[in-house]
Amino acid sequence: MKKHNFYAGPSILSEFTIQNTADAILNFADTGLSILEISHRSKQFQAVIDEASALVKEILDVPAGFEVLWLGGGASMQFCMIPYNLLAKKAAYLDTGTWASNAIKEARLFGDVDVVASSKEEGYTFIPKGFTVPADVDYFHYTTNNTIYGTEIRTDPDVAVPLVADMSSDIFSRKIDFSKYNAVYAGAQKNLAPAGVTLVIVREDALGHIDRPIPTMLDYRTHIKKGSMFNTPPVLPIYSALQTLRYYKQLGGIEALERRDIEKATLLYNAIDDSKMFTGTVTDAADRSIMNVCFVMTPEYKELESAFVDFCSARGIVGIKGHRSVGGFRASLYNALPIQSVKVLIEAMHDFEATH
Ligand SMILES: *Cc1c(COP(=O)(O)O)cnc(C)c1O
Repeated sequence: MKKHNFYAGPSILSEFTIQNTADAILNFADTGLSILEISHRSKQFQAVIDEASALVKEILDVPAGFEVLWLGGGASMQFCMIPYNLLAKKAAYLDTGTWASNAIKEARLFGDVDVVASSKEEGYTFIPKGFTVPADVDYFHYTTNNTIYGTEIRTDPDVAVPLVADMSSDIFSRKIDFSKYNAVYAGAQKNLAPAGVTLVIVREDALGHIDRPIPTMLDYRTHIKKGSMFNTPPVLPIYSALQTLRYYKQLGGIEALERRDIEKATLLYNAIDDSKMFTGTVTDAADRSIMNVCFVMTPEYKELESAFVDFCSARGIVGIKGHRSVGGFRASLYNALPIQSVKVLIEAMHDFEATH
């Protein structure tokens, strides 16, 4: 049966990415060897990482002065690497969810952290508005897309200090104005590649202004100097990332990706809004994520939630159970998810509602 993969992460990858990765596991670049068993310093792999970095710059329109890095440790490692390298005295953070608050916890190890606003008391169901970012902080950190709660900030905030953003779950879904940023990072396993690599895009002249000693592996300058090859990089995920980037370029780049993402999300939100059985959990429609659509059953149908999950899985729909901290449903509509899968989910919602 055809599967419709709505998992939140690791999550769906394009057939192009999976097929080409499978091919390279058997025979990489006509070497007669698997990509799993070849030196990361071979000229064939050097070509892979070079092309992947160049495509990131091309697709995201990254200006000169920024470096593209491929690191291990997940986005969670960036929660400490960012302040290690960029927080001299004080930083501002916006608390919009579990990932944001994990980043805040790490930053506190390095200096003063001003949490400018939080929606924690309201279960992170909206993006706080009207906060002020002080002008005396080293940077303002925020999470563009709150994967667990289905809220998203799709414009680069206007503040007096440089931005740093965790874009793990919505990178490659919109343009980024890099002139406002010192760093952007994203774990690969939502919109790019299998788990194991983290994409970091960092402004080179923002580095080197910190007095504290930085362990070699946690210093961005190490990885810039060595082209992400100070130690063995995650070879296979980088290879898959290259395939996804080629696929993105072929589709028409960021504008095309954003258009497709908005179309999918609009279809599903409309279906939820039109239904008597389902309701969205994000309180302000302007904050709704186009990547992770969170919804629940209205109180009178609440006890049917697990029945709906079973109903869906019988139709090949997988991964729609909400995060354990939120409950209900979460449909993740990452770039690789075909619009057809969204239509199948909507049909299942209609059919289930008609029969209950
Ligand atoms: C998934 C996710 C993370 C955690 O990523 P790891 O690579 O598992 O450390 C961090 N931030 C956001 C926004 C995420 O969606």
